[in-house]
Amino acid sequence: MRQLHGLTISEAARLLAAGEISSQQLTRAVLERIDAIDGRIGAYITVAADTALAQAATADAALAAGRGTALTGIPLAVKDLICTRDLPTTCASKILQDFVPPYDAAVVEKLRQAGAVLVGKANMDEFAMGSSTENSAFQITRNPWNRNHVPGGSSGGSAAAVSADLCLGALGSDTGGSIRQPAAHCSVVGLKPTYGRVSRFGLVAFASSLDQIGPLAKDSRDCALLLNAISGYDKRDSTSVPRDVPDFVAGLKNDLKGLTVGIPAEYFDTRGIDAEVLAAVRRAIGTMETLGARCLEVSLPHAPYAVAAYYVIAPSEASSNLARYDGVKYGFRDHRQTDLMEMYRRTRTAGFGPEVQRRIILGTYALSAGYYDAYYRKASQVRTLIMRDFEKAFANCDVIASPVAPTPAFEIGAKVDDPLRMYLSDVFTLSANLAGIPALSVPCGFSSAGLPIGLQLSGPHFSEARLLNVAWQFEQATDFHLKKPPL
Ligand code: GLN
Repeated sequence: MRQLHGLTISEAARLLAAGEISSQQLTRAVLERIDAIDGRIGAYITVAADTALAQAATADAALAAGRGTALTGIPLAVKDLICTRDLPTTCASKILQDFVPPYDAAVVEKLRQAGAVLVGKANMDEFAMGSSTENSAFQITRNPWNRNHVPGGSSGGSAAAVSADLCLGALGSDTGGSIRQPAAHCSVVGLKPTYGRVSRFGLVAFASSLDQIGPLAKDSRDCALLLNAISGYDKRDSTSVPRDVPDFVAGLKNDLKGLTVGIPAEYFDTRGIDAEVLAAVRRAIGTMETLGARCLEVSLPHAPYAVAAYYVIAPSEASSNLARYDGVKYGFRDHRQTDLMEMYRRTRTAGFGPEVQRRIILGTYALSAGYYDAYYRKASQVRTLIMRDFEKAFANCDVIASPVAPTPAFEIGAKVDDPLRMYLSDVFTLSANLAGIPALSVPCGFSSAGLPIGLQLSGPHFSEARLLNVAWQFEQATDFHLKKPPL
């Protein structure tokens, strides 16, 4: 048998249900792996060994009593902007360094009800702003495939933890690509659900109209298992959609015959994409064709404006959402001041890192009187056009295939001083958030330097089951998702 920490969720669940292993053994194996390896990766901000082992003991009792679910006793990681009542939730920011939320996020409640074990809180870009996890106030996370490279971001800790077997699966959040892009860079599967599919209650807000929580896992079946557990209506999130949730695991059964895959010309412009990424994605599309899919060129004419629209809308919403960190209600405060305005100023200057400050300034500017029409309103109009592009494209195809990121993971430090270059690495992922549609990344190759490459599949609203099935069929015909990083 493979080492316990190397199991997928479904393999582990089978062994747990059969009584061949216990959750305490499995959790201990994962914690030992973290002890041995995470010093070199930096995936976790908080490791919750004691509470995890207690949860594992409870899970073992539930399993013994025949009350197990597909996630009972499974060690999982959660990105550190998802509230956990017994563990700090820092958003990788000094301003929330010591914040322990008084409640659990809806998704954490659901994981606990399912009997999952929370091993720790994963590193990220501060407040999820970034594409490399270098914007964390506490530590950088290294890519398990090459530790001189970034894991991607902002859910880089979650992706690296799954890739390096430091948990069996994880949750991240995706506002403009933060699940899919690190999934691609670390060779794991990551899915951003339809906006409204998963409750945002207890997710610390970055850009509320774009944020979604989603799973990262070792294969698409595990992704489906996690999505089964976290989906569903929640009245505490006003944008949650009251709609039945299909069984995403049961949906992994259809071959690709009759499937039409849209290939957007705008996403295959050779000028902006690394040649090896392009070649791997084209090969992956060829594989889908041999499995019976038919390809069709589609057009997303407004895709080139996604970066500009997103980088007005997301900072605008962020500037409003982050106004609450004023040194009064949460976390860090600069105590030297007696004057209120000066206390706010110093608290926010010391509490927020440079990227977060940049976004607050950009967003405040874009929303200010006189500029609102020129920037925010214009960006919102572009957003509508991007949505309509997808509606038109999906009238003719079932899924859209594209790269996830224009290059494999870049070197640590390569883009930190050049925000515009960093923003451009989101060019293929932002549109799905602007349109609210689901999209996933599935491993589809490696560069000649051994760095992972992901294939992005997106679909109409609430088509997660279809996306997961296509990814699953692709995995049955390939072995990229089975490869392990050289650790
Ligand atoms: N990289 C994008 C940004 O910096 C997206 C981040 C995210 O999805 N949370 O805003």
